Amino acid sequence: AKVWVLRKHFDGFPKESDFEMKEETLPEVKDGEVLLEAIFLSLDPYIRAMSQLIMKEGDVLFGGQVAKVLQSKNPAFPVGCYVTAPCGWRTHTVTNGKAKFSQDMAQVLPDWPKEIPLSLAVSALGMPGLTALYGLEEVMQVKPGEIVLVSAAAGAVGTMVGQICKIKGCKVVGSAGSDDKVAYLKELGFDHAFNYKTIPSLDEALKKASPEGYDCYFENVGGPFFTAALNQMRPGGRIAVCGAISLYNATTPQTCPYPHMTIITRCLRIEGFQANQWPDKDEASIRRLVTWMKEGKLKAKEKITEGFEHTPGAFIRMLKGTDLGKAVVKV
Ligand code: NDP
Repeated sequence: AKVWVLRKHFDGFPKESDFEMKEETLPEVKDGEVLLEAIFLSLDPYIRAMSQLIMKEGDVLFGGQVAKVLQSKNPAFPVGCYVTAPCGWRTHTVTNGKAKFSQDMAQVLPDWPKEIPLSLAVSALGMPGLTALYGLEEVMQVKPGEIVLVSAAAGAVGTMVGQICKIKGCKVVGSAGSDDKVAYLKELGFDHAFNYKTIPSLDEALKKASPEGYDCYFENVGGPFFTAALNQMRPGGRIAVCGAISLYNATTPQTCPYPHMTIITRCLRIEGFQANQWPDKDEASIRRLVTWMKEGKLKAKEKITEGFEHTPGAFIRMLKGTDLGKAVVKV
């Protein structure tokens, strides 16, 4: 088996030299265990955000994958079935189905529709899709007719936020870092989208996109964008704090002025959340997402990098926003 380990803790943006590929001898499969073969690795920003907290140098990189069960001494995971599993950057894993770094366990993919690519199980129809759904429904409780803003809108989570908003009858505005991404957002049905890297003023761009302000803000980036968005919120507005990708690679502590009087006078609600907070709803929620996709109401783009050996490069590109589409490695 091959694994990628963290050779050196990241200092700013990860570099290829921070990673090292190693060979690993797999243990025998014991009672209760399975041997998994990775098919797709999911590359997500939380790997960077949490690396300092949960990894030490020499550890195997963590993260989700779609894998096939090659051997099984656990009846919950029959040979030949596909699972999503938090096994990290490994080609093969012997596991009892329990994750090391998260409360999530390996999950068998039930009756996966043949016409839907398996890789979407770690993308639009997996964790990022659930994040979008829960942020909108559980945290912000969006209602038809409301105006929703989402940052990092062309990403795995953001594209789902926008499309689900349209299903729910909301108006949705998105920001992204290239003109191609902005064009894609319009193709997906976003009412307005702008390139946050080329606008002269963020405040003006947010006002222009929705002169009447925003009822909900799905926050993915942090930093000055957060403050600018907060200033455009309507009374009674809700902000779901999902991520802060603009801060993950910062080398100096960032400060962000929170306009407290705006929060108070407009009675805003700001709430952080995690995708794994509603495990009892996951199965039914994934079924809803699959149905919407079959009905043509959801589309998903992926940036699939071929080859396990290219995983670090693909991860760095995802953090920089180089490519359009959810970052996945085909092992
Ligand atoms: P994406 O697929 O959106 O990939 C990351 C994107 O972030 C890049 O494509 C890039 O797009 C954008 N980006 C990078 N640097 C900056 C910056 N400085 N300012 C603004 N945008 C930047 O990732 P995901 O959709 O998977 O994740 C989006 C956010 O959601 C992240 O913050 C992530 O941590 C968070 N998240 C949180 C979860 C939770 O449970 N709370 C679960 C899943 C994700 P661009 O070209 O537009 O700059």
